[in-house]
This record gives sequence, C-alpha cells and structure tokens, in this order.
Amino acid sequence: MNQDTGLYCDLDRILLTREQIAEKVHELGAAITRDYEGKKPVLVCILKGASVFFADLIREIELPLTLDFMAISSYGSATKTSGVVRILKDLDNDILGKDVIVVEDIVDSGITLSYLTKILMQRGAKSLKIAALLDKPARRKIPELKVDYSCFNIPDAFVVGYGLDYDQTYRNLPDIGILSPRIYEQK
Ligand code: 5GP
Repeated sequence: MNQDTGLYCDLDRILLTREQIAEKVHELGAAITRDYEGKKPVLVCILKGASVFFADLIREIELPLTLDFMAISSYGSATKTSGVVRILKDLDNDILGKDVIVVEDIVDSGITLSYLTKILMQRGAKSLKIAALLDKPARRKIPELKVDYSCFNIPDAFVVGYGLDYDQTYRNLPDIGILSPRIYEQK
C-alpha cells in the first residue's frame, strides 16, 4: 500500500510499522507456545478489531489450538468508550474446562475485557488469559484488570490500522498510525 496517498494521508504519523508488529507477534507466539506446552488452548478472537492480529498470532503458535470468535460492541463510531458492552455474536463452542486465551486489539479503559472475562469464567473456563496487541495503561479505569500478554504499550492517542478502525475504515492499513484529529473533529 502506497504510504504517500490514500488512507495514510489521514494519519498524523505512523506509530508502529508492520516490521515492528511482526517481530512482537512472533515473540508473543513463542511465549504462548512455551507457556501452554502440553495443552490445547482455545483462542478467542474479539471481532472485528483483533482479526488481523489474530490471523498472524495463531500462525506463530506451535500448539494444537482451536479457534472461536466473539463480537462485542464498544465504540460505535466515536473515539471514546460508552461503557456499554453488548454481545453481538457469541462463541460457537462450549469453553467448560478449556484453557482460553482472549485475543483483543487494544485495552483502553479495560471495561470491555473486564466484562468479558467475568462472563467467560462464569461459563467454567479452566483458565483464562488476555493477549492484547496494544495497551494504553494511562487510560485504565479498571486497574484490577490483568493483561497477561501485550505487544506494545502506547500513549493516549487514537490509533488505526492492522485491524483497528475509525468508523469501520482503516482496518486494512498494514501499519498502525495515529489518526489525525481533523478526521474525527470534522464529524
Ligand atoms: P475499553 O473497553 O478497554 O475502553 O475499550 C476497548 C475497545 O475500544 C477496543 O477493543 C477498541 O475497539 C476500542 N479502542 C480503544 N482505543 C482505541 C484506539 O486508539 N483506536 C481504535 N481504533 N479503537 C480503540
């Protein structure tokens, strides 16, 4: 994708390049492979934002894992969380007695994941860990939420690309960039 035109023009700057992302995703895959040796974890992709990260991560894990998908509402088209979390698409399979790894794009306030992890534990998961591509620790509203694996801590800015959207756009950017505020302030 040409970085001088199109979607890239809406970015203030690139925060993480595809090469930086690939390196960290590779390291995370190796860590999960080590930590879950002898187990068959279920990897749960939180749609749609984690889809690109998920596709890359599962191919870096050398274990007999299974996949499942869940969609929950968080932002709508705004850039601030509403605090309202709704399940739009539930898991296809039972997780009773399973080692579950929830794969999320970004942890911001932590409201979404704190809600979700409670629900999944109530369903009898044997263990549950969170793997997030990005973490914005400065924005956390649920301090007790433990992010077990994360690839990058990032500053308090609104980012898009590599699966992350603004108003459903920019998910196909191969890199992660800070969206220019003029894009959402003009709305
Ligand atoms: P939380 O519940 O932790 O506040 O919000 C998590 C969700 O908010 C993420 O899954 C993501 O959908 C959205 N989100 C938070 N920060 C950003 C951001 O910088 N960019 C984008 N595109 N989404 C974000």
